[in-house]
Amino acid sequence: MRKILTLLLLLGSLFMPGLAQAQTTEPPVIRNEAIVDYPQSVRFQLEVDPAFNVVDAVLNYDVTQTACLDVSTQVPVDVAGSLIDWEWPMVRSGNPPPGAELWWEWTLTDDQGNTTTTPRQTLTFSDDRFDWQTVQEGNVTLHWYAGDEVGPLLLDAAVSGLALLEEDMGIELQEPVELYIYGRTEDMRDAVLYIQDWAGGVAFAEYNTILIGVVPSQAEGWGRDTVRHELAHLVVGQYGRSCVGGHRPTWLEEGLAMYAEGEPSEQVLSDLERSQENNDFAALRSLNGPFPAHGDAAGSAYSQSYSVIQFLQDEYGIKKLQDLLLLIAGGTGTDAALEQVYGFNVDGLESEWRVWRGLPARTYPPTPTPLAVEMIPTVVPFAGPQDYPTPLPIAEKGVEETAVPQPGNSICALGLIPLFALAFIAQKSQRTKI
Ligand SMILES: [Zn+2]
Repeated sequence: MRKILTLLLLLGSLFMPGLAQAQTTEPPVIRNEAIVDYPQSVRFQLEVDPAFNVVDAVLNYDVTQTACLDVSTQVPVDVAGSLIDWEWPMVRSGNPPPGAELWWEWTLTDDQGNTTTTPRQTLTFSDDRFDWQTVQEGNVTLHWYAGDEVGPLLLDAAVSGLALLEEDMGIELQEPVELYIYGRTEDMRDAVLYIQDWAGGVAFAEYNTILIGVVPSQAEGWGRDTVRHELAHLVVGQYGRSCVGGHRPTWLEEGLAMYAEGEPSEQVLSDLERSQENNDFAALRSLNGPFPAHGDAAGSAYSQSYSVIQFLQDEYGIKKLQDLLLLIAGGTGTDAALEQVYGFNVDGLESEWRVWRGLPARTYPPTPTPLAVEMIPTVVPFAGPQDYPTPLPIAEKGVEETAVPQPGNSICALGLIPLFALAFIAQKSQRTKI
């Protein structure tokens, strides 16, 4: 399975004379390549003419991504002979998704103290286990290999989801996105290190890339909803990107993604009906942080979040939602941002929403309880790049052909969302340690 996928590039690249600090005989590069064993590792190899006596070599590489702080990795590599070799084990940093672009260059010093840098080279990570087909519309490119109708169908879901976000929320896709639709969940998981064993899809926000495992028989239902849901996370993430630590509360993040799925599913409607009858909606403040990942409580949290977004949209309109997202992105806390835009905090929002739904008033503690640090789960130490894993439709665990995906089950791993920045920082620090 871990076959060598992409291996390249450029033989015999000559050094750029202009970059040399002191001119010397330009060392002919016999071979300069990166051998990818995706998603496990990349082995960089540089072979220089033995006549050029390299005493010091530094490898500089990075994967192109959207990030607030993107620092390339510089690695001093031991030199023994004319073959210089170093392996990047992605097991330590998490792997980039297919489609991500790697660049690298070598800086060499010879025994006379002359330094020169090889021209920057690039390669694109790919998952060559499958014979991918591609469809594209506007800024959305979708790759798939199983079921002829799956690609066009899910591309249509993506494009219509984007249109809904734009029309109803005034939020547009800012950067192109790539979707990789695997024909089986297992195939998708094998492309991602450290993915949760219940995940059916994952969004790599920094790469604007989404991976989802969609059995062709589930494309129309679960696949369509999940594409729109995950795409909404990326679009809202682009719109509300924060480099100052602003975190959207989970009810806002997930409510917007649910809203982008389109008309509420039967599951959402029945969740809302049940909670309305039992008067057992969660305190909205408790939905600032992670949701339960499974079970009725998880479903209810999503459905309630959807309803809150529907309320804000219907009663206050697009502009205020945009203002809220941008204020939070600018580092304003959720309560303060709500106060500034709507004149109420999270508890006040819940009160208004309950009136809107015809629910009896609830009492609130006089002082809002801040989200305690201990309520945030620990980030997994490897802190891979996946931000929004989505569980499988329950049916996929059973017989595929008779599968009936649960309509409201396009659920993300909510625990990870508020930790996005932490995960990002951890990832970068891991990488720079390499
Ligand atoms: Zn989600």
